Amino acid sequence: MKAVKWFAPHDMRLVEVPKPAPKPHEALIRIESTGVCGSDMHYYTDGRIGKTIITEPLILGHEYAGIVESVGADANPALVGKRVAVEPGIPCLKCEHCLRGRYNVCTTLQFPGGPPYDGALAEYSAVHAAFCFPVPDAITAAEAAMIEPLAVALHTIELAHLMPGETVAILGLGPIGLLTAQVARLAGAGRILGTDLLGYRVDVAKRYGVDAAYNAQTIDSVETILRETNGRGVDLAIDCARSTLTPAIACRVARPAGRCILTGISGEEYGQFPVDIARRKELTITWCRRFRFNFQTAIDLVASGRIDVRSLITHSFPLEQSRDAFELVSRAGENVLKTSVDQ
Ligand SMILES: [Zn+2]
Ligand SMILES: [Zn+2]
Repeated sequence: MKAVKWFAPHDMRLVEVPKPAPKPHEALIRIESTGVCGSDMHYYTDGRIGKTIITEPLILGHEYAGIVESVGADANPALVGKRVAVEPGIPCLKCEHCLRGRYNVCTTLQFPGGPPYDGALAEYSAVHAAFCFPVPDAITAAEAAMIEPLAVALHTIELAHLMPGETVAILGLGPIGLLTAQVARLAGAGRILGTDLLGYRVDVAKRYGVDAAYNAQTIDSVETILRETNGRGVDLAIDCARSTLTPAIACRVARPAGRCILTGISGEEYGQFPVDIARRKELTITWCRRFRFNFQTAIDLVASGRIDVRSLITHSFPLEQSRDAFELVSRAGENVLKTSVDQ
C-alpha cells in the first residue's frame, strides 16, 4: 500500500509498505482522512517532542477516520462497512492506570504517528476494534477525523470542572483552542477571552464562542486579560498553544485560587514556571493528556450540530501531497486552521 514516511525534518516521501493484516481483535481501516495536528509539527520540523525522538523513518498522523474493510475473528463483525473515527493510542488495558480508567496515561500506550509506531498517512491501518467509533452517515470523513481533536477539547473542559458563568482565558486559538472555546461555551462559560500570535485566528475566534480575542504580537496578554477582568484574573486559564511561554501566562492571568489547564504541547523537555506567583495564588494546575472516554460524546455533539468542526477544516490535500499539507501548517500560511489529507 501507499504511505507517506517522515525521513528527516521537512522531508516526507511517498513510499510503498506492506498492507497490514488485522489481528483477531483488530479492524482493518481503509483510511479516508487524516488531520494534520500541531503535535505532528514538532515531529515534522524537529523530529522530536521532548525526549520522544524519531530514530527510524516513520509514518506520521494520528487524527483519522475511514471505512472498516474487515475485522479479525474476535472483533465485532457489525463494524464492517462502517465509517469510523479512530481513537488513537492503544493502552495495555492491564496496568494499574488502565485498570483505574486512566488509560490515557498508560506507560506502554502505543500511539500511532509517535515513534516507534506508524501513523495514519497511509492507505490502511489495523487498529484495536474497541477503539473504532462508528459515525452517523451525515458526518463526512474529514469531520470524523476531527473527532480526535474535539475529544482533546472535551477532556480539557472535563478536567477544568467548569461552572456556569465562570470566566475563561484561552491561550492559543488554533483548532484545539477554537474547539475548546466551543466546548467551554456549551458547558456554560461566562466571558471567554482568547489570545493568539496570528491575526487571522484572532479575527475568526468570535465565530467559535470567544467574546474578545487579542493578538499577542501586538498586545501584552497578561496586562490585557487582567485589565479585562478588572484586575481579578480569570477563573480558568487554558493553554492551547504550542509554546514554552503560555503555561507561565496561564498562571499570571488566573485569579487567586483559580485553575490552569495545560493542554498545549511546547515540544520542549523543560519550560518556565512562575513558581512564586503560582504558590501565592494557590493555583490548581492540571495537565491534559489527550483524552479518555470522550469519543462518543464528541461524535454526538458533532452529529447534533452543537459543535462545529466543519468550518475549521480549511484545506485538503491528497495523500501524495502530504508534505505540502505539513508545510502549509508549519508556516501557518493561507489562513490555515485545520488541514486534512484525504483519499
Ligand atoms: Zn492531535
Ligand atoms: Zn496500561
